[in-house]
Amino acid sequence: MSDTGNDPHGWRPATRYPDPAVISLDPRFDACKLPLAGVERLATGCRWCEGPVWFGDGRYLLWSDIPNNRIMRWDETTGQAAPFREPSNFSNGQTRDRQGRLITCEHGGRRVTRTEYDGTITVLADSFEGRRLNSPNDVVVKSDGSIWFTDPAFGIAGNYEGYRAEPELGQNVYRLDPGTGALSVVADDILGPNGLAFSPDEAVLYIVESRGVPTRKILAYDVVEGGTAIAGRRVFIDAGPGTPDGFRVDVEGNLWCGWGMGDPELDGVMVFAPDGTPIGRIALPERCANLCFGGRANSRLFMAASHSVYALYVNVAGVAGG
Ligand code: MG
Repeated sequence: MSDTGNDPHGWRPATRYPDPAVISLDPRFDACKLPLAGVERLATGCRWCEGPVWFGDGRYLLWSDIPNNRIMRWDETTGQAAPFREPSNFSNGQTRDRQGRLITCEHGGRRVTRTEYDGTITVLADSFEGRRLNSPNDVVVKSDGSIWFTDPAFGIAGNYEGYRAEPELGQNVYRLDPGTGALSVVADDILGPNGLAFSPDEAVLYIVESRGVPTRKILAYDVVEGGTAIAGRRVFIDAGPGTPDGFRVDVEGNLWCGWGMGDPELDGVMVFAPDGTPIGRIALPERCANLCFGGRANSRLFMAASHSVYALYVNVAGVAGG
């Protein structure tokens, strides 16, 4: 599997700098761009890429290929991609905890897991008050070790990205306490909660409302009660015709959001300033579901986009834990 494989879009990287796919919508984005960096395709041939997560210690990227029921691994030293875990229980969103361990949402297992250093898998959460979780979608770890994840029913709606089943719980957002392992509901009124991430100072939690009516939104909440709860729900970004899914935050507080579906002009990544202003766009030939920062200096953007994974060096770093 490489970028010489399946190529339904006929896409080729730009040969001249600056790459016209990296677009400033506001002068604030200029400082985030590198004039001699362009969009590269690292791998293709997947069915639906999600959950990218970078391992700097091993110089590799993992991501979920949900319908193919596998986690893929791209090796920075060889440029090759190969399955890492197969089957993956239809894994979706992933991150690392502050000890560097892989944290994975599984549609098929209807659970959140941690992969230990020896490769064994620990189940962190698979039920709440005696009922099975729906299909954990995306996850973030706060600096205190608490694990926050969304649990929409997308992964049990059919058999393509999991196993069809009736929901037993509402579509909640949960916090897993690092001391007790107990789950608590931090939000129960988001229509299709999806990607989530903290602001750099962890004072704000952003959550994608991916079934918002009439438009999808990115909501913002204040983190309160000693970092155990959220309050003050507000619409941070109204996505209009766009479809946000997963996103990450850089050290300046900008949100880098997977975007697209429907109109090809929307496909790629949208970047928003901390005040919610759209400042930049990365045009991709496929809808981008999720992304992460990685690479040396945590300043290479890895974009999980439908069939393919793309990368772009940028002039800003992602926050720790992103
Ligand atoms: Mg998602």
